[in-house]
Amino acid sequence: MTRAGGAGELFGTNGVRGIANEELTADMALNLGRTIGTLRKGRIAIGMDARISSAMLKCAVIAGIASVGSDVVDIGIAPTPALQYFVKETEEITGGVIVTASHNPREYNGIKFVHSDGTEFTREMDEESERVYKSKKFVRAGWNEVGRVEEADYLRMYLDGMIDKVDVEAIAAKQFKVVIDCGNGAASLVTPQLLKELGCDVVSLNCHHDGRFPARNSEPVEENVGILKEVVKIADAHLGIAHDGDADRATFVDEKGNFVSEDVMLALMAKKYVENNRGGVVVTPVSSSKCVEDSVKEAGGEVVYTAVGSPVVVKVMKEVNAVFGGEGNGGLIFPEHLLARDGVMSAAKVLELIALENRPLSEIAKEIPRYHMLKTKVECREKKKLLSGLREEFTEANFIDGARIDFEDGWLLIRPSGTEPIARIFAEAKSREKAEDLLEFGIKTVKRILG
Ligand code: MG
Repeated sequence: MTRAGGAGELFGTNGVRGIANEELTADMALNLGRTIGTLRKGRIAIGMDARISSAMLKCAVIAGIASVGSDVVDIGIAPTPALQYFVKETEEITGGVIVTASHNPREYNGIKFVHSDGTEFTREMDEESERVYKSKKFVRAGWNEVGRVEEADYLRMYLDGMIDKVDVEAIAAKQFKVVIDCGNGAASLVTPQLLKELGCDVVSLNCHHDGRFPARNSEPVEENVGILKEVVKIADAHLGIAHDGDADRATFVDEKGNFVSEDVMLALMAKKYVENNRGGVVVTPVSSSKCVEDSVKEAGGEVVYTAVGSPVVVKVMKEVNAVFGGEGNGGLIFPEHLLARDGVMSAAKVLELIALENRPLSEIAKEIPRYHMLKTKVECREKKKLLSGLREEFTEANFIDGARIDFEDGWLLIRPSGTEPIARIFAEAKSREKAEDLLEFGIKTVKRILG
């Protein structure tokens, strides 16, 4: 099972995830269905990504929900944010389920629960789910009380929801040429359609569902989107966009065919939201680049750091009434639309940004200060010893998730893993040399504290 710092043995930060039919079986999916059906009595929406095992797992979840007497609305293959938006916007929907392993390799799958407001289950909700799941005390509805199962279409509602929140005229007037690489994932029939409705000339790449992921790895990081970069150049396009398997993330390639780092995109969008709002709070995990904080401060706003993981970012966004939030992995959260990462909405918002700025993305991105971030991991079998040592030594550090230590010209994050015997070390500075120095200092510090 892949999980990191989640609620318990079964539920990680991304719900339940593992190799399909080995670690995550149809039997488990059935009981997970019974669990959500028990917890959120009423009508539960379900969607899935395009993986080979998704339909099997979805059918098992549906059977579980109906068996305890709750109704099911099946929306079929959908990006995770589309399922979340459907749950949020549809009256009488009491919860949601998405079957997806996001950006993980093809053999994986996952099941994640969604709250009635469209947000991911919080850690506390997952803990409750885990208790119900393990108790195995499920009611069995009588033959005439089993839940009804119906299908619904989410696409129009989802597209309209996004189109309503961007300046369509400004985007359409530019007649942008856009290359979209869906990686054969869940957004394959969604983002290209949105781009067309925004008046773009669309070149689609890997935009048909194929759970084998024949074209590229599902994670839209720079090393996986080489073909997109080439096609942007060959097609002389204004922008390239790539999604992960469930499209809660989007990454971008500028008009020159260069990948724009996820942190820079987060900083750009955060800055824009703060400018438009004349201030406000942006929420991001402690692992995000300093370029976000610099850009937000420059625009007159403030950054609040959280632990790593999107549910906690959303939780804090609610608490502080944030104007924007996101992670440095291409997961951006537009609170006026949905309190969840939405890669499809990111595509629309980035096009709006380029249109309104009236400059190409490469030019706009230049405004964001550049840092060098380096990451490594070292062995750590004594998490508590490491953390207490760090607390003693760096009293000024932020301990929301590991220790983020600020220096005059950079920062260092030392995070013991919740699931593996390692500590992750992140170092960032304006120069590569300085980042290397900080990383070295981090490694030495961990080794010294652990003895
Ligand atoms: Mg994802």
